[in-house]
Amino acid sequence: MQRDTGIRALEDHDGAFDFIVIGGGATGLGVAIEAASRGYDTLLLEMHDFAKATSSRSTKLVHGGVRYLQQGNISLVLEALKERGLLQENAPHLVTNLAFVVPNYDWWEGPFYGIGMKVYDMLAGRQNFGRSKHLTREETLKHLPTIEPKGLRGGVIYYDGQFDDARLAVNMAQTVVEQGGIALNYVKVTDLIKSDDGVINGVVAVDQENGKEYRLDSKVVINATGIFTDSIRRMDDPEARDTLRPSQGVHIVLDKSFLPGDSAIMVPKTDDGRVLFAIPWLNRIVVGTTDTEIDGPSMEPVPMQEELDFLIEHAGRYLVKDPTPDDVLSAFAGVRPLVTRPDAPAGDTSEISREHVLHISNNGLVTISGGKWTTYRKMAEDTIDQAATLADVEERPSVTKHLHIHGWHEHPEQFGDLSQYGSDAPGVKGLMRDRPELAETFDDRLPIRKAMVIWGTRHEMARQVEDILARRSRSLLLNARAALDIAPEVAKLMAQELGEGDDWVEEQVQAFTELAQNYMLAPESTKVQSTT
Ligand SMILES: Cc1cc2nc3c(=O)[nH]c(=O)nc-3n(C[C@H](O)[C@H](O)[C@H](O)COP(=O)(O)OP(=O)(O)OC[C@H]3O[C@@H](n4cnc5c(N)ncnc54)[C@H](O)[C@@H]3O)c2cc1C
Repeated sequence: MQRDTGIRALEDHDGAFDFIVIGGGATGLGVAIEAASRGYDTLLLEMHDFAKATSSRSTKLVHGGVRYLQQGNISLVLEALKERGLLQENAPHLVTNLAFVVPNYDWWEGPFYGIGMKVYDMLAGRQNFGRSKHLTREETLKHLPTIEPKGLRGGVIYYDGQFDDARLAVNMAQTVVEQGGIALNYVKVTDLIKSDDGVINGVVAVDQENGKEYRLDSKVVINATGIFTDSIRRMDDPEARDTLRPSQGVHIVLDKSFLPGDSAIMVPKTDDGRVLFAIPWLNRIVVGTTDTEIDGPSMEPVPMQEELDFLIEHAGRYLVKDPTPDDVLSAFAGVRPLVTRPDAPAGDTSEISREHVLHISNNGLVTISGGKWTTYRKMAEDTIDQAATLADVEERPSVTKHLHIHGWHEHPEQFGDLSQYGSDAPGVKGLMRDRPELAETFDDRLPIRKAMVIWGTRHEMARQVEDILARRSRSLLLNARAALDIAPEVAKLMAQELGEGDDWVEEQVQAFTELAQNYMLAPESTKVQSTT
């Protein structure tokens, strides 16, 4: 997947696309795969990097959502569990099975959560990830050696999926290309084009790298811009009202020593009524999340002090070792795209839902929003079913239930620390074989090897240092200070690949330095180097 090739294909394209998809997060990438794999002529445009917004900032769970079960939203859980199973089959290199333990401190929690998890198992049916069961106090401590033992009665264990969200997004963009579509990052849609009778039939888009403007025709335009959905709807109808109710969620990342072993902690109800997770991920512990209403969408949301305090304090309640701000290796925020229906009466927030909302405007703009990462494929299937009718193209059935995502491999675990590359792992290994210095890591605190920078730049459309350090590798989330320290070396390697000079390197390091500040806690703590 190379950007130059994609831009050339766009410039050489004759006539109208069947579909132009705006937005390269989980939703837009899913829609583009759905369209391209049905044989439709498809273009996806992302204004920044793939998954830059919400889709790289999730809790990294491919799950039915135990929280929705508590709320009695069975149909949502059922659909998500089905999708969880399909995603594990289609991207086994990125989706893994993880044990979650609900620790019980009150007498009623064991039976209560035990029954709840049995229902969860039942709903998963054949696609169950493992049977839930009660654990004694001793068994609970075996799974969670550092759980707070005071007052612990036992626990309930259940199984769910975990993934690397940003890497899945990149592999999905590669899948779009393999299915015959075009997927481009750093191309922003700045306007919609309408026919004389007002029907939307294309977009104006600007290449963010060189400012070149394109007018691109399409039978149907699909708005999959997550928290930015209303900005595109207003290009169609300047009077369109807000549908988004943005809510921020923050995670903190701790050293693995806070929760050794392979099991996660799930606390079904914290003080503010949220589910709290402490999850082993890429040899770190991710603790999250919060739910704070915010004023509007933001591409680079920043954790608030209250959110950080909440997470640090709650992690301390459940872990033997109480984390302090200095223990936080990275903190990241994401904004949930919670939406109301565009046609709901103004001011009516009762329809805010975790389910997705598909809407077609009077001028033919298709908007797909809401939902969650886990259900992206089903959202995409529904969208293209409707959009194909609107575009008046030949109806073709969906094939994505059993479509492998780029990188699919039957036994990815055989590639060791490259398992997440799946079928690309031999390619990365090949780079290291040809130039052994590329097998080196930059820094003991981070697992990223030099070959991964080359691979990401050559084959995964990484254009900026941030693309490599935040999304092709997860260095920024694993240890923000260490990521900042290696940024100059990463920039130099990328510059060689991209044919850029010293000015570019300097600019990139400057931009990444500013970005990384948002992931580190108090300036004093940024000086403390992690021991990992
Ligand atoms: C804190 C948190 C935790 C979560 N945890 C989970 C979880 O564990 N599991 C799960 O299943 N789900 C989870 N979710 C939900 C999931 O992350 C989101 O539902 C999903 O990522 C939304 O994807 P999206 O593509 O709709 O939006 P986004 O990822 O925001 O993508 C929209 C894209 O549109 C682009 N765009 C905007 N305007 C333009 C334009 N004019 N031109 C071109 N491109 C444009 C943006 O740059 C952006 O990349 C979580 C969400 C949050 C906030």
